[in-house]
Amino acid sequence: MTATRAPGMPYVDDGMLVSTNPATGAEAGRVPVADEAAVAAAVERARTAGAWWASLGFDGRRERLLRWRALLAERIEQLADLSHLEAGKPVIEAVVEGGAAIEHLDWAARNAKRVLGPRRTRTRLVLAEHVGHVEHQPYGVIGVIGPWNYPIETPLGPIGGGLAAGNAVVFKPSEYTPMVGQWLVESFAEIVPEHPVLQAVQGLGDVGAALCRSGVDKIAFTGSTATGKKVMAACAETLTPVVIEAGGKDALIVDADADIAAAAQAAVWGAMTNAGQTCIGIERAYVVAPVYDEFVNAVVAKAGKLEVGVDIGPITMPAQIDTIRRHIDDALARGGRAVLGGAGAVQPPFVAPTVLVDVPDDAAAVREETFGPTLTITKVADADEAVAKANASRYGLGGAVFGKANAVRIARRLRSGMVSVNGTLSFVGLGTLPFGGVGESGFGRIHGEEGLREFSVARAVTVRRAPSLLPTMTFERTPAQAKRIVKALKLLYARKP
Ligand code: NDP
Repeated sequence: MTATRAPGMPYVDDGMLVSTNPATGAEAGRVPVADEAAVAAAVERARTAGAWWASLGFDGRRERLLRWRALLAERIEQLADLSHLEAGKPVIEAVVEGGAAIEHLDWAARNAKRVLGPRRTRTRLVLAEHVGHVEHQPYGVIGVIGPWNYPIETPLGPIGGGLAAGNAVVFKPSEYTPMVGQWLVESFAEIVPEHPVLQAVQGLGDVGAALCRSGVDKIAFTGSTATGKKVMAACAETLTPVVIEAGGKDALIVDADADIAAAAQAAVWGAMTNAGQTCIGIERAYVVAPVYDEFVNAVVAKAGKLEVGVDIGPITMPAQIDTIRRHIDDALARGGRAVLGGAGAVQPPFVAPTVLVDVPDDAAAVREETFGPTLTITKVADADEAVAKANASRYGLGGAVFGKANAVRIARRLRSGMVSVNGTLSFVGLGTLPFGGVGESGFGRIHGEEGLREFSVARAVTVRRAPSLLPTMTFERTPAQAKRIVKALKLLYARKP
């Protein structure tokens, strides 16, 4: 059985989930598999831990989260080495990923009090005798379900936001990257040993399903759109709210006045970083006719220099190789041309950089998430056509525009949750910015202010400060007062704007 298992395929052996390297098949480590009872017990422990964690207040949590942030930064090489061993990711790419995760943790820790702390609202003439306050309280226990492609950055978004908002977290890492998940949880326990505020529950998809049904107060899911729908259906049974961070098919638009060398450099990185296994990876480029040839040549020159096995790691999930192959074959069969790579680029567990041109709009490589180091480049007449084609997708995660005079205007027209102008993927690195998509890319936000609010419940409080002038909220009113209420309403609202 072991002989036929593709390198990288995790498996369960005697109650342990075994993680293996996708390039070599070497074991990266093993962790105990949780069953439904273990998931329930973890959530139960998290309830008590969460109450204690919440009682620390914003300042107490900030101090501990910043110490965790420091520990992650100190041990970044160790974490990156583990990600390389388990997911096959080039070490420097894992360092960059870890750096983005640390930035978000830092921002969440420092800003939770400002964003979520109690605040007074402005007085209105109506009910002016009451003062309004808004405060954000933690949900209690957040369940975080993470994917394998960015095993540090993607779960740390909801984990950092959830913890900073005062919740305990039960985290189900992907079965392909359990060791990175375990490392993160254990490093947190070094800083916060008192209670299990952050726990991992390990295993296959059924463990994620058990977490959805475990009674957690909210689920933050990052993964494929198909699984996201299953998660939402499971959560619907108990009306458990969800954040869904799902797939994408992000487009880059290159306008006529763009810096083509810079656009090509950003396109190659945006498409090929992490071997293209990036939810916000650039999979399509739409380039206006006057600069099309120059852009294609520049992309081919730059992508052609990438070294497989060094710059481009293995495909982490063996089954994904079939999808990438199908997309390339389908594009070529429909009249597309490979100006770099192509059918021969797929050499499991690696896929060499592949640039496809003249691919029709209905090809899988243009419509479906490929998740490999491939890029389609399409010539368009102008920015309007580019926007129309970019938006003709059921996904709407990120996107990018290169240009000068109209770049920001074009960017605003993209149907997506995020967009970079004169850069690719840049929005994921800024602690201040919300992250999330529209359409089949999901909903809800992690990171930034929105990411903190996502993991807290807004509560409204009113405090009376004077007797009521108009007795609206009582049965004890006279006919004369009733008339005055009508008069006041008309005075306030009946005037035309
Ligand atoms: P999957 O959807 O296969 O898995 C995501 C997580 O869900 C895994 O931990 C998985 O566990 C778990 N899971 C599987 N089945 C269930 C279930 N029925 N109920 C609950 N949880 C379940 O995604 P991948 O791991 O393959 O990740 C790749 C996808 O993630 C891509 O589509 C990518 O675009 C997307 N992604 C989106 C991001 C975003 O922020 N928008 C960021 C990164 C990736 P197990 O692994 O054990 O099966």
